[in-house]
Amino acid sequence: MSKSLSSDYLIIGSGAMGMAFADTLLTETKANIIIVDRFAKPGGHWNVAYPFVTLHQPSTFYGVSSRELSQGLKDQVGLNKGLNDLASGQDVLRYYDDVMRHQFLPSGRVQYFPMCDYKGGGKFKNKLSGETFEVSYKKLVDCTYLKTHVPSTHTPNFEITEGVTFMPLNDLPKLTQAPDMFNVIGGGKTGIDALLWLLEMGVNPDKIQWVISRDAWLLDRQNTQPTAEFFSSTMGAQAAQFESIANAESVEDMFDRLEASGYFVRIDKNVRPEMFHGATISQAELIALRQIKNIVRLGHVTKIEPHLITLKKGSVPSTPGTVHIDCSASALKADLKPTLIFDSDVITPQMVRSYQPIFSASLIAHVEATFPDDNTKKNDVCGVVPLPNADMDYMKMTAANMMNQYKWSQNSEISNWLLNNRLDGFSKMVSEIGADETEKRAIMKRLRNNAMPAVMKLQNFIAQAGAG
Ligand SMILES: Cc1cc2nc3c(=O)[nH]c(=O)nc-3n(C[C@H](O)[C@H](O)[C@H](O)COP(=O)(O)OP(=O)(O)OC[C@H]3O[C@@H](n4cnc5c(N)ncnc54)[C@H](O)[C@@H]3O)c2cc1C
Repeated sequence: MSKSLSSDYLIIGSGAMGMAFADTLLTETKANIIIVDRFAKPGGHWNVAYPFVTLHQPSTFYGVSSRELSQGLKDQVGLNKGLNDLASGQDVLRYYDDVMRHQFLPSGRVQYFPMCDYKGGGKFKNKLSGETFEVSYKKLVDCTYLKTHVPSTHTPNFEITEGVTFMPLNDLPKLTQAPDMFNVIGGGKTGIDALLWLLEMGVNPDKIQWVISRDAWLLDRQNTQPTAEFFSSTMGAQAAQFESIANAESVEDMFDRLEASGYFVRIDKNVRPEMFHGATISQAELIALRQIKNIVRLGHVTKIEPHLITLKKGSVPSTPGTVHIDCSASALKADLKPTLIFDSDVITPQMVRSYQPIFSASLIAHVEATFPDDNTKKNDVCGVVPLPNADMDYMKMTAANMMNQYKWSQNSEISNWLLNNRLDGFSKMVSEIGADETEKRAIMKRLRNNAMPAVMKLQNFIAQAGAG
């Protein structure tokens, strides 16, 4: 027989989104919360990440709003030199463990059930004891919807025959002998992480082959720094983005302008990207990656044999001594259909600001905590920003993002809240512009003047693309 529990909120998933949501609820309400997760520790996919993983964006605006994660340092060495620190996977896990053990649980308002599988209908089961539970709750918060995929928990969608050495990038540090070649499969951020690590470990770039099925537009990490000394690059990039869109004469021209302004970067200037996942990269990382000349652009891999790699559009030779590294998992499930965030008694946190899942979860919790009990009104300020996959998705994502930003700017309560939320990297920076800071004011003017024309241009391009 199931053990009965009751709580105001039942949160499924103690990943970054579940933790950020719970933190804001604890700060802004008196509610009780039950958190269920199938992992042993909070932090979600960071529990199974590769050993050399770091955040891709500064620690300054990652984690939960009530607790700093960044060490307040700028990297002095390495490929992120000069930019705000990026917490390692170990740092992220220790941080979430601290948040759970030293904040959430001592509050007396959180019950945490690790190693438990949620089965639906308020029911979950402890995977080790077999004990089952049934929760009566006011609201269910499904923080599993985005389904983050990582290489160690991902099954490749191609065939690997006997005699092939194939591994997720998690296993790279376990290698004890130099292989003939490293064949890195995946053009996204995980593939980039594997390549950069190999180069940093001293592997000759000529010993690396990189399989890219689609090149990606990338974001320059210098433009994502939420601290005052980076105002010009961060807010300047936003202004440049709006200008590029507003002045564009066609979609192609828009991407050209976005690149020319420094908003987008790409690995190879001769290959037009078809993918956009919002991944960030530093200029030093770009230079390092460009040392790799052995790039296979023949579509997706379909089969790996000891002497041959078959891809959709051709094949390339291999050797039994090659190590094949799987980086083909897509962190964000891009074909996921957006669903209503507030629907009856279920809350499904999704992105309400592009590239910012954690901030999004916190804002959704704030709306839940402070808005009247009316899902229509709550959904109105929490429009889902769809996850991008192809280059063209950038337009819908940006239009939805700008629409939310506009609505928040018209709501004084939300505007004030943004100023004090650590996970919002940018509002505070903008609010602190001094009267005599003419350069910063000029950037904000460009941003404001181009925002509305940019939204209208995006709507036109989206309509044309739909009709075409
Ligand atoms: C390598 C990497 C670096 C990244 N860097 C950044 C960054 O710098 N900044 C940024 O904003 N984003 C970054 N991201 C994006 C990333 O998706 C988010 O940071 C975030 O960690 C996602 O958290 P989540 O809670 O949505 O998902 P997850 O971490 O996947 O958490 C979901 C949780 O739900 C649990 N769960 C699922 N189903 C069930 C069930 N039935 N029963 C019980 N539990 C269940 C899982 O065990 C898991 O713990 C990065 C992603 C990757 C892969």
